[in-house]
Amino acid sequence: MTTAHTTHGAAALPTVYLDHGATSWPKPVEVVSAVHDALTLYGGNPGRGAYRLAMATTRLIHESRRDIASFLGVPDARDLLFQPGCTEALNLVLRGLLSPGDRVVACSMEHNAVSRPLHALAALGVEVVIIDADDTGTVDADEVEQAVAAAATRAIVCQQASNLTGAIQPVADLADVAHAHGALMLVDGAQAGGHLDIDLATLGADAWACSGHKGLLGPQGVGVLYLAPACNPEPLVLGGTGGGTSESADPPSVRPDRYEAGTPNTPGIAGLGAAARYLSVHAAEHRVDERQLTRRFHEGVIEIGGFRVLGPEPDRARVPVLSVVHESIDADRLAFSLDRRFGVAARAGLHCAPWAHRTVGTLETGALRFGIGYGNTAADIDFALGALRTLAEEAL
Ligand code: PMP
Repeated sequence: MTTAHTTHGAAALPTVYLDHGATSWPKPVEVVSAVHDALTLYGGNPGRGAYRLAMATTRLIHESRRDIASFLGVPDARDLLFQPGCTEALNLVLRGLLSPGDRVVACSMEHNAVSRPLHALAALGVEVVIIDADDTGTVDADEVEQAVAAAATRAIVCQQASNLTGAIQPVADLADVAHAHGALMLVDGAQAGGHLDIDLATLGADAWACSGHKGLLGPQGVGVLYLAPACNPEPLVLGGTGGGTSESADPPSVRPDRYEAGTPNTPGIAGLGAAARYLSVHAAEHRVDERQLTRRFHEGVIEIGGFRVLGPEPDRARVPVLSVVHESIDADRLAFSLDRRFGVAARAGLHCAPWAHRTVGTLETGALRFGIGYGNTAADIDFALGALRTLAEEAL
Protein backbone atom coordinates (compact mmCIF):
# COMPACT_ATOMS: atom_id res chain seq x y z
CA MET A 1 0.00 0.00 0.00
CA THR A 2 1.31 3.42 -0.93
CA THR A 3 0.74 6.69 0.86
CA ALA A 4 0.07 9.68 -1.34
CA HIS A 5 2.02 12.59 0.15
CA THR A 6 0.24 15.42 -1.58
CA THR A 7 -3.19 15.41 -3.13
CA HIS A 8 -3.49 19.00 -4.30
CA GLY A 9 -4.78 20.27 -1.02
CA ALA A 10 -7.07 17.37 -0.13
CA ALA A 11 -6.28 15.17 2.86
CA ALA A 12 -3.69 12.54 2.00
CA LEU A 13 -5.33 9.16 1.43
CA PRO A 14 -3.75 5.75 1.67
CA THR A 15 -3.80 4.74 -1.98
CA VAL A 16 -3.80 1.33 -3.49
CA TYR A 17 -2.38 2.28 -6.83
CA LEU A 18 -3.57 -0.03 -9.59
CA ASP A 19 -3.03 2.05 -12.69
CA HIS A 20 0.43 0.86 -13.69
CA GLY A 21 -0.85 0.34 -17.24
CA ALA A 22 -1.02 4.13 -17.52
CA THR A 23 2.06 5.03 -15.45
CA SER A 24 4.01 3.09 -12.85
CA TRP A 25 4.03 4.69 -9.40
CA PRO A 26 5.78 5.05 -7.09
CA LYS A 27 9.23 4.77 -8.65
CA PRO A 28 12.21 2.93 -7.17
CA VAL A 29 14.23 5.23 -4.91
CA GLU A 30 17.17 4.87 -7.30
CA VAL A 31 15.10 6.54 -10.01
CA VAL A 32 14.05 9.39 -7.73
CA SER A 33 17.70 9.94 -6.69
CA ALA A 34 18.89 9.95 -10.29
CA VAL A 35 16.31 12.60 -11.25
CA HIS A 36 17.30 14.65 -8.21
CA ASP A 37 21.00 14.36 -9.09
CA ALA A 38 20.32 15.32 -12.70
CA LEU A 39 18.64 18.51 -11.53
CA THR A 40 21.21 19.37 -8.89
CA LEU A 41 24.51 18.03 -10.20
CA TYR A 42 24.18 17.73 -13.99
CA GLY A 43 23.00 21.19 -14.92
CA GLY A 44 24.82 21.53 -18.24
CA ASN A 45 23.27 21.03 -21.65
CA PRO A 46 24.45 17.64 -22.98
CA GLY A 47 26.39 17.67 -26.25
CA ARG A 48 26.57 21.44 -26.18
CA GLY A 49 29.67 22.96 -24.65
CA ALA A 50 33.11 21.69 -23.69
CA TYR A 51 33.04 22.86 -20.08
CA ARG A 52 33.04 20.14 -17.46
CA LEU A 53 29.42 20.54 -16.35
CA ALA A 54 28.14 20.05 -19.91
CA MET A 55 30.52 17.14 -20.49
CA ALA A 56 29.41 15.41 -17.29
CA THR A 57 25.82 15.70 -18.50
CA THR A 58 26.79 14.27 -21.90
CA ARG A 59 28.36 11.34 -20.09
CA LEU A 60 25.22 10.82 -18.01
CA ILE A 61 23.09 10.55 -21.17
CA HIS A 62 25.64 8.19 -22.70
CA GLU A 63 25.61 5.93 -19.64
CA SER A 64 21.81 5.88 -19.50
CA ARG A 65 21.64 4.93 -23.17
CA ARG A 66 24.20 2.19 -22.65
CA ASP A 67 22.40 0.71 -19.64
CA ILE A 68 18.91 0.84 -21.17
CA ALA A 69 20.26 -0.71 -24.39
CA SER A 70 21.90 -3.45 -22.38
CA PHE A 71 18.67 -4.16 -20.43
CA LEU A 72 16.69 -4.43 -23.68
CA GLY A 73 19.30 -6.48 -25.54
CA VAL A 74 20.18 -3.80 -28.10
CA PRO A 75 23.58 -4.73 -29.55
CA ASP A 76 24.66 -1.17 -30.47
CA ALA A 77 23.42 1.52 -28.05
CA ARG A 78 23.46 4.11 -30.86
CA ASP A 79 20.37 2.36 -32.26
CA LEU A 80 18.46 3.16 -29.05
CA LEU A 81 16.98 6.63 -29.37
CA PHE A 82 15.46 8.81 -26.69
CA GLN A 83 12.02 10.18 -27.53
CA PRO A 84 9.48 12.10 -25.44
CA GLY A 85 7.34 8.96 -25.18
CA CYS A 86 6.01 5.97 -27.03
CA THR A 87 3.49 8.09 -28.92
CA GLU A 88 6.17 10.29 -30.48
CA ALA A 89 8.36 7.28 -31.19
CA LEU A 90 5.50 5.58 -33.04
CA ASN A 91 4.71 8.74 -34.97
CA LEU A 92 8.34 8.95 -36.07
CA VAL A 93 8.32 5.36 -37.25
CA LEU A 94 4.94 5.38 -39.00
CA ARG A 95 5.07 8.83 -40.52
CA GLY A 96 8.78 8.65 -41.24
CA LEU A 97 8.56 5.32 -43.08
CA LEU A 98 5.20 5.14 -44.85
CA SER A 99 4.37 7.09 -48.02
CA PRO A 100 1.28 7.32 -50.23
CA GLY A 101 0.91 4.07 -52.17
CA ASP A 102 2.42 1.95 -49.37
CA ARG A 103 0.40 -0.80 -47.77
CA VAL A 104 0.54 -1.51 -44.02
CA VAL A 105 -1.08 -4.36 -42.06
CA ALA A 106 -2.11 -3.59 -38.47
CA CYS A 107 -3.89 -5.42 -35.67
CA SER A 108 -7.35 -4.39 -34.45
CA MET A 109 -6.09 -3.93 -30.85
CA GLU A 110 -3.87 -0.93 -31.60
CA HIS A 111 -3.77 2.08 -29.28
CA ASN A 112 -4.53 5.56 -30.62
CA ALA A 113 -0.77 6.16 -30.73
CA VAL A 114 -0.84 3.81 -33.75
CA SER A 115 -4.41 4.06 -35.02
CA ARG A 116 -4.47 7.86 -35.28
CA PRO A 117 -1.22 8.13 -37.27
CA LEU A 118 -2.53 5.31 -39.48
CA HIS A 119 -5.82 7.16 -39.96
CA ALA A 120 -3.92 10.31 -40.99
CA LEU A 121 -1.69 8.29 -43.33
CA ALA A 122 -4.72 6.60 -44.89
CA ALA A 123 -6.05 10.06 -45.77
CA LEU A 124 -2.77 10.67 -47.64
CA GLY A 125 -3.07 7.45 -49.66
CA VAL A 126 -1.47 4.75 -47.50
CA GLU A 127 -3.50 1.54 -47.65
CA VAL A 128 -4.22 0.34 -44.10
CA VAL A 129 -5.39 -3.26 -43.65
CA ILE A 130 -6.66 -4.16 -40.18
CA ILE A 131 -6.67 -7.75 -38.95
CA ASP A 132 -9.23 -8.54 -36.26
CA ALA A 133 -7.95 -10.10 -33.05
CA ASP A 134 -10.04 -12.77 -31.31
CA ASP A 135 -12.27 -11.99 -28.34
CA THR A 136 -9.34 -12.18 -25.89
CA GLY A 137 -7.59 -9.51 -27.96
CA THR A 138 -4.98 -11.85 -29.44
CA VAL A 139 -4.11 -11.62 -33.13
CA ASP A 140 -3.47 -14.75 -35.21
CA ALA A 141 -0.14 -14.78 -37.08
CA ASP A 142 -1.61 -16.95 -39.89
CA GLU A 143 -4.34 -14.40 -40.55
CA VAL A 144 -1.75 -11.64 -40.66
CA GLU A 145 0.33 -13.71 -43.06
CA GLN A 146 -2.64 -14.15 -45.43
CA ALA A 147 -3.14 -10.38 -45.48
CA VAL A 148 0.55 -9.69 -46.07
CA ALA A 149 0.77 -12.29 -48.81
CA ALA A 150 -2.24 -10.82 -50.64
CA ALA A 151 -0.38 -7.74 -51.94
CA ALA A 152 3.00 -6.00 -51.67
CA THR A 153 3.24 -4.76 -48.08
CA ARG A 154 5.70 -2.25 -46.66
CA ALA A 155 5.17 -3.00 -42.97
CA ILE A 156 3.30 -4.87 -40.27
CA VAL A 157 2.60 -2.80 -37.18
CA CYS A 158 1.44 -4.49 -34.01
CA GLN A 159 1.51 -3.94 -30.29
CA GLN A 160 3.46 -6.43 -28.21
CA ALA A 161 0.77 -6.50 -25.53
CA SER A 162 -2.68 -5.00 -25.15
CA ASN A 163 -3.30 -2.12 -22.75
CA LEU A 164 -6.92 -3.31 -22.49
CA THR A 165 -6.89 -7.10 -22.19
CA GLY A 166 -3.25 -7.80 -21.37
CA ALA A 167 -3.08 -10.19 -24.34
CA ILE A 168 0.44 -10.85 -25.58
CA GLN A 169 0.76 -10.74 -29.36
CA PRO A 170 2.96 -13.16 -31.31
CA VAL A 171 5.31 -10.41 -32.49
CA ALA A 172 8.30 -12.71 -33.08
CA ASP A 173 6.14 -14.81 -35.45
CA LEU A 174 4.82 -11.65 -37.07
CA ALA A 175 8.41 -10.50 -37.61
CA ASP A 176 9.12 -13.78 -39.43
CA VAL A 177 6.02 -13.20 -41.56
CA ALA A 178 7.07 -9.64 -42.32
CA HIS A 179 10.60 -10.60 -43.29
CA ALA A 180 9.47 -13.56 -45.41
CA HIS A 181 7.47 -11.06 -47.49
CA GLY A 182 10.03 -8.25 -47.61
CA ALA A 183 8.14 -6.07 -45.12
CA LEU A 184 9.25 -4.28 -41.97
CA MET A 185 8.08 -5.28 -38.48
CA LEU A 186 7.14 -2.29 -36.31
CA VAL A 187 6.27 -2.95 -32.68
CA ASP A 188 4.46 -0.87 -30.07
CA GLY A 189 6.13 -2.17 -26.91
CA ALA A 190 4.44 0.28 -24.48
CA GLN A 191 2.81 -2.41 -22.33
CA ALA A 192 5.63 -4.92 -22.69
CA GLY A 193 8.75 -3.05 -21.55
CA GLY A 194 9.73 -4.22 -18.06
CA HIS A 195 6.81 -6.69 -17.84
CA LEU A 196 8.11 -9.12 -20.48
CA ASP A 197 11.64 -10.35 -20.99
CA ILE A 198 12.70 -8.42 -24.07
CA ASP A 199 15.74 -9.14 -26.21
CA LEU A 200 15.71 -6.80 -29.17
CA ALA A 201 18.71 -8.58 -30.69
CA THR A 202 16.52 -11.62 -31.37
CA LEU A 203 12.88 -10.36 -31.35
CA GLY A 204 12.99 -9.50 -35.05
CA ALA A 205 11.51 -6.00 -34.73
CA ASP A 206 12.83 -3.43 -37.20
CA ALA A 207 11.46 -0.76 -34.90
CA TRP A 208 10.35 -1.11 -31.27
CA ALA A 209 8.87 1.82 -29.37
CA CYS A 210 8.28 1.98 -25.64
CA SER A 211 7.20 4.41 -22.93
CA GLY A 212 9.76 5.03 -20.22
CA HIS A 213 7.14 5.72 -17.55
CA LYS A 214 5.22 2.44 -17.42
CA GLY A 215 6.86 -0.95 -16.81
CA LEU A 216 10.33 0.48 -17.43
CA LEU A 217 9.77 2.46 -14.17
CA GLY A 218 11.22 5.74 -15.45
CA PRO A 219 9.75 9.25 -15.17
CA GLN A 220 7.04 10.59 -17.46
CA GLY A 221 8.13 12.50 -20.56
CA VAL A 222 10.71 10.06 -21.85
CA GLY A 223 10.48 6.97 -24.02
CA VAL A 224 12.75 4.92 -26.23
CA LEU A 225 12.80 3.83 -29.83
CA TYR A 226 14.98 1.02 -31.09
CA LEU A 227 15.68 1.16 -34.82
CA ALA A 228 17.41 -1.80 -36.45
CA PRO A 229 20.47 -0.65 -38.40
CA ALA A 230 18.74 -0.96 -41.79
CA CYS A 231 15.52 0.79 -40.70
CA ASN A 232 15.84 4.48 -41.50
CA PRO A 233 12.68 6.59 -41.18
CA GLU A 234 12.85 10.23 -42.19
CA PRO A 235 13.29 12.29 -39.01
CA LEU A 236 10.12 14.24 -38.18
CA VAL A 237 11.74 16.83 -35.92
CA LEU A 238 14.61 18.90 -37.26
CA GLY A 239 16.82 21.24 -35.27
CA GLY A 240 19.99 21.53 -33.27
CA THR A 241 21.75 18.33 -32.23
CA GLY A 242 24.62 17.39 -29.98
CA GLY A 243 26.94 16.41 -32.85
CA GLY A 244 29.44 18.77 -34.47
CA THR A 245 27.61 19.46 -37.75
CA SER A 246 25.96 22.80 -36.97
CA GLU A 247 27.01 24.32 -40.31
CA SER A 248 24.90 21.86 -42.32
CA ALA A 249 21.30 22.66 -43.29
CA ASP A 250 20.47 18.96 -43.08
CA PRO A 251 20.17 16.84 -39.94
CA PRO A 252 23.19 14.66 -39.10
CA SER A 253 23.29 11.24 -40.75
CA VAL A 254 24.59 9.46 -37.64
CA ARG A 255 22.55 7.95 -34.82
CA PRO A 256 21.40 8.89 -32.29
CA ASP A 257 21.83 12.56 -33.31
CA ARG A 258 19.74 12.18 -36.47
CA TYR A 259 16.63 11.48 -34.42
CA GLU A 260 17.28 13.56 -31.31
CA ALA A 261 16.99 17.23 -32.27
CA GLY A 262 16.73 19.76 -29.45
CA THR A 263 17.79 19.65 -25.81
CA PRO A 264 16.93 16.24 -24.38
CA ASN A 265 14.97 15.50 -21.22
CA THR A 266 18.08 15.00 -19.09
CA PRO A 267 16.29 14.34 -15.75
CA GLY A 268 13.96 11.87 -17.48
CA ILE A 269 16.80 10.07 -19.23
CA ALA A 270 18.83 9.94 -16.01
CA GLY A 271 15.84 8.44 -14.20
CA LEU A 272 15.22 5.92 -16.96
CA GLY A 273 18.88 4.89 -16.92
CA ALA A 274 18.68 4.28 -13.18
CA ALA A 275 15.45 2.34 -13.71
CA ALA A 276 17.16 0.10 -16.27
CA ARG A 277 19.99 -0.62 -13.85
CA TYR A 278 17.42 -1.41 -11.16
CA LEU A 279 15.45 -3.69 -13.50
CA SER A 280 18.59 -5.47 -14.69
CA VAL A 281 18.80 -6.86 -11.15
CA HIS A 282 15.13 -7.09 -10.12
CA ALA A 283 12.95 -7.50 -13.24
CA ALA A 284 12.83 -11.30 -13.13
CA GLU A 285 11.61 -11.38 -9.53
CA HIS A 286 9.05 -8.62 -10.23
CA ARG A 287 7.67 -10.58 -13.18
CA VAL A 288 7.01 -13.61 -10.98
CA ASP A 289 5.18 -11.37 -8.47
CA GLU A 290 3.20 -9.62 -11.20
CA ARG A 291 2.06 -12.93 -12.65
CA GLN A 292 0.94 -14.21 -9.25
CA LEU A 293 -0.84 -11.00 -8.28
CA THR A 294 -2.59 -10.77 -11.65
CA ARG A 295 -3.83 -14.32 -11.33
CA ARG A 296 -4.94 -13.73 -7.73
CA PHE A 297 -6.87 -10.66 -8.85
CA HIS A 298 -8.37 -12.43 -11.86
CA GLU A 299 -9.61 -15.41 -9.83
CA GLY A 300 -10.86 -13.10 -7.08
CA VAL A 301 -12.95 -11.02 -9.49
CA ILE A 302 -14.52 -14.14 -10.98
CA GLU A 303 -15.38 -15.33 -7.48
CA ILE A 304 -17.23 -12.09 -6.68
CA GLY A 305 -19.56 -12.74 -9.63
CA GLY A 306 -21.31 -10.30 -11.95
CA PHE A 307 -18.10 -9.27 -13.69
CA ARG A 308 -16.86 -10.11 -17.17
CA VAL A 309 -13.05 -10.18 -17.17
CA LEU A 310 -11.62 -9.26 -20.58
CA GLY A 311 -8.68 -11.10 -22.10
CA PRO A 312 -7.04 -14.49 -21.65
CA GLU A 313 -8.10 -17.01 -18.98
CA PRO A 314 -6.30 -16.86 -15.59
CA ASP A 315 -3.91 -19.69 -16.47
CA ARG A 316 -2.78 -18.08 -19.74
CA ALA A 317 0.13 -15.62 -20.08
CA ARG A 318 -0.70 -11.91 -20.14
CA VAL A 319 0.91 -8.65 -19.09
CA PRO A 320 -0.39 -7.44 -15.71
CA VAL A 321 -3.41 -5.45 -16.88
CA LEU A 322 -6.88 -6.74 -16.24
CA SER A 323 -10.07 -5.02 -17.39
CA VAL A 324 -13.54 -5.81 -16.14
CA VAL A 325 -17.13 -4.93 -17.00
CA HIS A 326 -19.90 -5.32 -14.41
CA GLU A 327 -23.35 -6.50 -15.44
CA SER A 328 -25.12 -3.53 -13.84
CA ILE A 329 -22.68 -0.90 -12.47
CA ASP A 330 -20.97 1.20 -15.10
CA ALA A 331 -17.20 1.38 -15.18
CA ASP A 332 -16.96 5.13 -14.48
CA ARG A 333 -19.11 4.80 -11.38
CA LEU A 334 -17.06 1.89 -10.11
CA ALA A 335 -13.80 3.77 -10.63
CA PHE A 336 -15.18 6.83 -8.87
CA SER A 337 -16.40 4.86 -5.85
CA LEU A 338 -13.19 2.83 -5.65
CA ASP A 339 -11.19 6.03 -5.46
CA ARG A 340 -13.41 8.18 -3.25
CA ARG A 341 -14.55 5.53 -0.81
CA PHE A 342 -11.64 3.11 -0.73
CA GLY A 343 -8.59 4.96 -2.08
CA VAL A 344 -8.15 2.47 -4.91
CA ALA A 345 -6.84 4.08 -8.11
CA ALA A 346 -7.98 2.33 -11.31
CA ARG A 347 -8.90 3.66 -14.73
CA ALA A 348 -12.29 3.48 -16.44
CA GLY A 349 -13.21 4.42 -20.00
CA LEU A 350 -11.80 3.55 -23.40
CA HIS A 351 -8.10 3.75 -22.47
CA CYS A 352 -7.17 5.54 -25.74
CA ALA A 353 -7.94 2.27 -27.47
CA PRO A 354 -11.34 2.40 -29.21
CA TRP A 355 -10.23 -0.19 -31.78
CA ALA A 356 -9.44 -2.62 -28.97
CA HIS A 357 -12.75 -1.98 -27.20
CA ARG A 358 -14.61 -2.52 -30.47
CA THR A 359 -12.74 -5.80 -30.96
CA VAL A 360 -13.75 -7.23 -27.59
CA GLY A 361 -17.27 -5.72 -27.63
CA THR A 362 -16.91 -2.97 -25.01
CA LEU A 363 -16.90 0.15 -27.19
CA GLU A 364 -20.33 1.18 -25.87
CA THR A 365 -19.74 0.44 -22.17
CA GLY A 366 -16.01 1.04 -21.73
CA ALA A 367 -14.32 -1.03 -19.03
CA LEU A 368 -12.57 -0.64 -15.71
CA ARG A 369 -8.86 -1.41 -15.96
CA PHE A 370 -6.53 -2.48 -13.16
CA GLY A 371 -2.82 -2.31 -13.90
CA ILE A 372 -0.59 -4.21 -11.49
CA GLY A 373 3.10 -3.43 -11.09
CA TYR A 374 6.05 -2.28 -9.05
CA GLY A 375 5.26 -2.01 -5.31
CA ASN A 376 1.94 -3.88 -5.39
CA THR A 377 1.43 -6.61 -2.81
CA ALA A 378 -1.09 -9.39 -2.19
CA ALA A 379 -2.62 -7.11 0.45
CA ASP A 380 -3.27 -4.46 -2.24
CA ILE A 381 -5.01 -7.02 -4.42
CA ASP A 382 -7.14 -8.34 -1.56
CA PHE A 383 -8.06 -4.81 -0.50
CA ALA A 384 -9.16 -3.90 -4.05
CA LEU A 385 -11.12 -7.16 -4.33
CA GLY A 386 -12.83 -6.42 -1.02
CA ALA A 387 -13.81 -2.96 -2.26
CA LEU A 388 -15.14 -4.39 -5.53
CA ARG A 389 -17.13 -7.01 -3.64
CA THR A 390 -18.72 -4.34 -1.42
CA LEU A 391 -19.70 -2.23 -4.44
CA ALA A 392 -21.06 -5.26 -6.29
CA GLU A 393 -23.12 -6.37 -3.27
CA GLU A 394 -24.55 -2.88 -2.81
CA ALA A 395 -25.82 -3.01 -6.39
CA LEU A 396 -27.85 -6.20 -5.79
N1 PMP B 1 0.69 2.18 -26.91
C1 PMP B 1 0.08 1.55 -25.88
C2 PMP B 1 -0.34 0.11 -26.05
C3 PMP B 1 -0.11 2.22 -24.68
O1 PMP B 1 -0.70 1.60 -23.66
C4 PMP B 1 0.32 3.57 -24.55
C5 PMP B 1 0.11 4.34 -23.27
N2 PMP B 1 -1.21 4.41 -22.85
C6 PMP B 1 0.94 4.19 -25.65
C7 PMP B 1 1.11 3.46 -26.80
C8 PMP B 1 1.41 5.61 -25.58
O2 PMP B 1 2.52 5.74 -24.72
P1 PMP B 1 3.08 7.14 -24.17
O3 PMP B 1 2.20 7.51 -23.03
O4 PMP B 1 4.48 6.83 -23.72
O5 PMP B 1 3.06 8.11 -25.29
